Amino acid sequence: SVDSLLYAKFSANTYFGNHFFGAKVLFSIFSPLQVLLVFAKEDSQSNGFCWACEKANYRCSLAHTPESALECFSEKHHDLVIVDHRHSRHFDAEALCRPDREEASVMPLINAGFNRRYVENANMMACYNELLQLEHGEVRAQFKLRACNAIFTALEQSQDAIEITSEDQVIQYVNPAYEAIMGYQQGELLGKEIIEVPKSEKNKPDLLETINTCIRKGKEWQGIYYAKKKNGDNIQQNVKITPVIGQGGCFSSPDIQSSKHKDRRKGSLDVRSTTSRGSDGSSQRRHSSMARIHSMTIEAPITKVINIINAAQESSPMPVAEALDRVLEILRTTELYSPQLGTKDEDPHTNDLVGGLMTDGLRRLSGNEYILSTKQPHHLPSHLATPLSLNDIPPRIAQTMETEGSWDFDIFNLEAATMKRPLTYLGLKIFSKFGVCEFLNCPEATLRSWLQVIEANYHSSNSYHNSTHAADVLHATAYFLCKERVKQSLDPIDEVAALIAATVHDVDHPGRTNSFLCNAGSELAILYNDTAVLESHHAALAFQLTTRDDKCNIFKYIERNEYRTLRQAVIDMVLATEMTKHFEHVNKFVNSINKPLAALEENGESVKSILTSPENRILVKRMLIKCADISNPCRPLELCIEWAGRISEEYFAQTDEEKRQGLPVVMPVFDRHTCSIPKSQISFIDYFITDMFDAWDAFADLPNLMQHLDNNFKYWKGLDERKLHSLRPPPE
Ligand code: AMP
Ligand code: ZN
Repeated sequence: SVDSLLYAKFSANTYFGNHFFGAKVLFSIFSPLQVLLVFAKEDSQSNGFCWACEKANYRCSLAHTPESALECFSEKHHDLVIVDHRHSRHFDAEALCRPDREEASVMPLINAGFNRRYVENANMMACYNELLQLEHGEVRAQFKLRACNAIFTALEQSQDAIEITSEDQVIQYVNPAYEAIMGYQQGELLGKEIIEVPKSEKNKPDLLETINTCIRKGKEWQGIYYAKKKNGDNIQQNVKITPVIGQGGCFSSPDIQSSKHKDRRKGSLDVRSTTSRGSDGSSQRRHSSMARIHSMTIEAPITKVINIINAAQESSPMPVAEALDRVLEILRTTELYSPQLGTKDEDPHTNDLVGGLMTDGLRRLSGNEYILSTKQPHHLPSHLATPLSLNDIPPRIAQTMETEGSWDFDIFNLEAATMKRPLTYLGLKIFSKFGVCEFLNCPEATLRSWLQVIEANYHSSNSYHNSTHAADVLHATAYFLCKERVKQSLDPIDEVAALIAATVHDVDHPGRTNSFLCNAGSELAILYNDTAVLESHHAALAFQLTTRDDKCNIFKYIERNEYRTLRQAVIDMVLATEMTKHFEHVNKFVNSINKPLAALEENGESVKSILTSPENRILVKRMLIKCADISNPCRPLELCIEWAGRISEEYFAQTDEEKRQGLPVVMPVFDRHTCSIPKSQISFIDYFITDMFDAWDAFADLPNLMQHLDNNFKYWKGLDERKLHSLRPPPE
């Protein structure tokens, strides 16, 4: 393109002869870089590079025509050539660098084969940064290769016999002088252990041991050694053996008739494998695979992002390029959304909660089979077969539910009034309020049966994960669905999906965490491959229970496509309650919704498109059910305390069982004898709740929840400051 400059990078000749390399290679590494600028005429851009060369202490020559460029290059062998590609009228930069045009082309002289474009920018610092990037990247690498080449050339030319072995005494290299003196061909020796090569019996019996001891200490050994040639003759040699410790293995120059060289590092093995790779063609194959990867047509978005950043780095000043390097490092990790805990210094409660809720049994104990009771799903108890209709709900229960529209609604009252069946009754009321039966086109009796079946499959023996928790989450979900912002972004089908998801989201919960199930090798963990075990089970079982029997099949009356959409939304929401994905969901919500909304609102622009895009609606629904699921720290203090007591008791029961069964204890702080409940609540709020509800409040506007959260947090802090471990302070 006309507005860009073209770099062609050259590497100078290899130097032959061992008398050369000492002086010449060192010279080329430590002498200033030679830069050739090929510019049709001097302008601000060429000046920019000239000044940049000066600043970087490079030597710079300027040529105005291809001919003078070639002449200058053949004299000085520049390390870097910058060709002006803007003034195509004056000369053809492409042709100058094109490999297929023999005459007047510099390409045959280029060893590096490295081209790079620089978009016109006369700023001296931009030029300077570009030069530095080139020097520290490709040019230096070329110098090293050149030095390596020179050293190998010197070895090949040396009159002294030289042998290089690896730490485990496998021969890596012998030079031609060695071949000539010892009568072996290289191929007969490479890859062989020294011990396999016949030894002369003229050496003192303990000489080899002496040498090895010396080398193992990292010391050089020098002395007289009898070697056996291939033809059986013994020759006396003055030998020097030098162990090489350090990066990559380097050489010590041999100065005696024959020299052995021990490389104590595995590095020399690399030398060997590099050579063999070069010859077996696999390096070529890998090279072309790499090229294919770069030209992949189906690019993952993350690959696109990385490529864009890479491209931006090319023309960025050093500090920006370095900052982008750090960005790339983060992007390349898979755990983009999970903050990394420094396990040691972190609070043990946070650690245990994270370990217990956010890993799927990584601390597994092998061979310890624990199988959860393989009970059949509950069917409807016969006395409930023809349940009450909404109209004939007992007055006491109906009265308890009157305040259902308030956030401060007391679910435990309803639990008591319904004999632990709050889900069915609250479900009937809330589903009717949202017109779910009308949407699904199903009789109210079907909904009632469905609610009863689902509730029957919650374990009333769990202190936390029972149907009261499901009813609580349903209540929070319904409350959130009434918020203006939420109403703006969701469709009726989303609302129905959210209510169904909340109802079923923990069905058949065994009162144990995913980690526990994985550690115990439970049937469910095996069925779901240790991934999202419980959430997968809740979702799958919910659909099994629903569709197995027409009597409770609330999906029976909707169209197939609508069913598929609804089903997908329910599954997505139930799976979103899995805590390993907590930060992913929260961060996506913040980045895709909170931030763009804030920006638009600042400019007074319409937010509708952000709220209603299909991707964002999914994020809203996930966030909604997540917040409903763990909203107990935002409930009025008394309710919050009750929930904290219940979850703690469930965790304690798990720890008890882990100890009984000899399973790994997933959350050691939740030991009923030692646990500080206030501390555990402070950690839970700090780590999982605060940020999430800040984001949700910013979206849905929930001042009362935030006020409760604040109060509750202070309450736990107060207890903790008094060093109390219990749910409540002792009576005065
Ligand atoms: P779910 O199992 O769907 O209810 O997911 C919510 C997770 O958060 C569960 O694993 C609970 O154990 C955990 N959790 C909820 N409330 C609290 C709380 N107050 N303290 C500690 N953990 C909690
Ligand atoms: Zn839950």
